[in-house]
Amino acid sequence: MEEWTVRVEHCDTKKEKPDTDHLEFGRSFTDHMFVMDYSEPLGWHDARIVPYQKLTIDPSAMAFHYGQTVFEGMKAYYTENGEIQLFRPDKNLARLNHSNDRLCIPPVDEEFVLKAIKQLIYTDKEWIPKAEGTSLYIRPFIISTEPYLGVAPSHHYKLIVILSPVGAYYKEGINPVKIAVENHYVRAVKGGTGEAKTGGNYASSLKAQEMVSKQGYSQVLWLDGVEKKYIEEVGSMNVFFKINGEVVTPALNGSILSGVTRDSVIELLKYWDVPVTERRISMEELYQAYVDGQLEEAFGTGTAAVISPIGELAWEGKKLEVNNGKIGETAKRLYDTMSGIQYGKVEDPFGWIVKVKETEPVK
Ligand SMILES: *Cc1c(COP(=O)(O)O)cnc(C)c1O
Repeated sequence: MEEWTVRVEHCDTKKEKPDTDHLEFGRSFTDHMFVMDYSEPLGWHDARIVPYQKLTIDPSAMAFHYGQTVFEGMKAYYTENGEIQLFRPDKNLARLNHSNDRLCIPPVDEEFVLKAIKQLIYTDKEWIPKAEGTSLYIRPFIISTEPYLGVAPSHHYKLIVILSPVGAYYKEGINPVKIAVENHYVRAVKGGTGEAKTGGNYASSLKAQEMVSKQGYSQVLWLDGVEKKYIEEVGSMNVFFKINGEVVTPALNGSILSGVTRDSVIELLKYWDVPVTERRISMEELYQAYVDGQLEEAFGTGTAAVISPIGELAWEGKKLEVNNGKIGETAKRLYDTMSGIQYGKVEDPFGWIVKVKETEPVK
């Protein structure tokens, strides 16, 4: 492989920045983006930071037809003393390659792409909002671009990274959400693509989400795709329950997405000596724990919200109210610690934080 460098083409005029008090998730994008192409026999090449712009892609490009795409999601945070931080970005890049493998997309050089992402963030650092709880969302994604309608892995791809300033997830404090257990639709099955971060998983989840939101629920709780008994995820987050002092989360089974937040929550709980177990857990067992008065907490985990407490679960005509609809102490402690580490307010004993500095341009 030839030596990789990132070519930089700055924009002539900078865009107007959105009102940082009213940032809507994923609506505005920064001045630049990172792009890299793949073709054979060159491999990944022409890494460049260019002005944010529309793409010209052939209508027959494979991504449009058969969904051979993957993506990632992470954030850059400003600390109080003006440093820019990432949270375990190496995990996101490793997962990108894991998703690539599942979708027959050629792997990327994780270290190189991380360096390029840092350089992109530094280029557009004026876009990172500074108010409490705000951040810069980073969206790397890969699309198959070969103009061909045959069903086969593409020979051409684009990796693109775009950046979007986002507001605080919890502007009015953390209010637990109502969740409906989904008994009809499924998100993924073992052997399918549930473990990969690919657009198709989201496309197939829309219908269930649309149905329950009409009934006043904010998300669905996904059950396994075979028996529809075992708990998998909540919306597009991983899920945790505190039952009689023990924190339980579904074990990674081939259909659950391995969240960076999930992994960090498990690490933190172990560090605190709070019992935490990854295992199979059925809805029946959860209901029994509830009936026995042992279901103490329930919460989702993901990059967007960090921790999203569940106040109520609706299942087969029954309503399980969790912790009187309030955030539990474990969820609160996890939220405060994780977001504290991300914003540089709490010490990071794990080496999770990666700083973005004005480094040598990637060569
Ligand atoms: C991205 C994602 C998560 C959360 O992953 P994080 O790395 O914690 O943001 C959980 N479930 C699904 C289905 C996802 O796509």
